[in-house]
Amino acid sequence: MAEKRDYYEVLGLQKGASADDIKGAYRKAALKWHPDRWVSGTDAEKKTAEEKFKEASEAYSVLSDPDKKAKYDQFGFAGVDGAGAQDWSQGFGNLNDILNNLFGGAFGGFGGFSGFGDFGFGGQQGPRQQRGRDIRTRVKVTLEEIANGCEKEVTIERNRPCPDCNGRGAKNASDVKTCPTCKGTGTIQTVTNTLFGRALNTSVCPHCNGTGKVVTNPCGRCKGTGLVRVKETVKVRIPAGVEDGMQLSLRGEGHAAPQGGVNGDLLVIVEEQPHAQLKRDGANLFYTRVISVADAMLGCEIQVPGIDGPQTLKLEAGTQSGTVQRLRGKGLPSVNGYGLSSRGDLYVKILVWIPRKLGRSEREAIEKMRDAVRPDPNRDDRALFEKESQYF
Ligand SMILES: [Zn+2]
Ligand SMILES: [Zn+2]
Repeated sequence: MAEKRDYYEVLGLQKGASADDIKGAYRKAALKWHPDRWVSGTDAEKKTAEEKFKEASEAYSVLSDPDKKAKYDQFGFAGVDGAGAQDWSQGFGNLNDILNNLFGGAFGGFGGFSGFGDFGFGGQQGPRQQRGRDIRTRVKVTLEEIANGCEKEVTIERNRPCPDCNGRGAKNASDVKTCPTCKGTGTIQTVTNTLFGRALNTSVCPHCNGTGKVVTNPCGRCKGTGLVRVKETVKVRIPAGVEDGMQLSLRGEGHAAPQGGVNGDLLVIVEEQPHAQLKRDGANLFYTRVISVADAMLGCEIQVPGIDGPQTLKLEAGTQSGTVQRLRGKGLPSVNGYGLSSRGDLYVKILVWIPRKLGRSEREAIEKMRDAVRPDPNRDDRALFEKESQYF
C-alpha cells in the first residue's frame, strides 16, 4: 500500500474539525465509496472504491474516538499505530447500518435513513442479492398513548416467500437452473466502441434480473416469482413522547425479496390525534381554564385534565386573569429522555370570565359589589400580571 495519507486529509477536513464535521465527512465518503455503490462498476472502479472506503473508515475510526483522536493529533500515526486497522474479512457492512449508526436515534432508525430502499443490493461479488421494497403505513395515536408509549397493530399487505415452493419460484429444487445468459454471475459485459477506444461495460443480466438463476418449471401458486401477497398484522411498539410525523422503522417487516433476498422495512409514520382539551408543544402541555370573578377574588380549587388523570390546582384569592400556573413534570416524556426528570410541564392559563349579559338578580349582586369593591391601584399587584401575560 502506498504512503498513508493524513486522516484529516482523507476525510477532506481541517485539523480541529468538530465531531459533527467528522461524522458528516465520513457519511459523505461512505455514500460515495461504499462497495455497495459500485456493484456495477468496472473492476478498476470497484478496487478504487474499496481502497477509498477502507481509508475513510480507518480515518473515521480514529478521529471519531476522542482518545485516539487526541493521540493522533499529538503524535500522528505513531500515536495510534494499528488503532484504525479493521477486519474486512466479513465484508464491508451494510451501508444503511453504517449511516444509521452515525446518526440513528435511540430507536433504531428514527433518524430517517430508512429511505434508501432504492439501492438495496448488498452483495460484493457475483449475483446480486435483491432487497424487498419498504412499506409505508400510518398509525394514529392519542396523546394519552404518547404519554406512556403503547403497542399498536397495523395490518398490511406484503409479499412473503411462497409456502408451496419455499420462495424458490420453482416446483422442485432441481427446477432452478444457473442462468445461461450470465452463467450465474448475475452480470453481463458488453463492449462498446467510443471515440477513445473500446470500453467494457458491466450491467445486470436482463434474463435473470441479476440473481444468476432461472426457473425452468415455475411453481403454480406464485407463478415462479417465489412470492405471495399476504395480509398480516404487525405489532408496532410506539415509544413514549413521539411526535406527529415521526417515522419508526421496523427492519425486515416490509416486502420479501425474490429468491431469498433481504426483506424491506416497514416504515410507520406517527399521526398524533388532537386532544379535546390539551394542546401540545414538544414535551409541554397547555390548558386554558375560565373561572368566575368571585372564584378569582376569593380563591378556589379547580380540577384540570392531566395526561395521567385529573390534577387538582389551588388558586389563591386574587388570582388575575391571564395567570399561568406550571405543573412541573405533568407534561409528556421527551422521546429521547429517561425517567421523570425529562418530562415536560403542564401549563394552565387562568382566564377570569366577565359575563357579557347579566340577569336581573346577577345585576343586583354585582351592583352591590361595585360599591363594596372599588379599584385601588395601591393594592393591585400589577407586576405579577404583566410578567405572566407575556407567555401568551
Ligand atoms: Zn443471468
Ligand atoms: Zn411458489
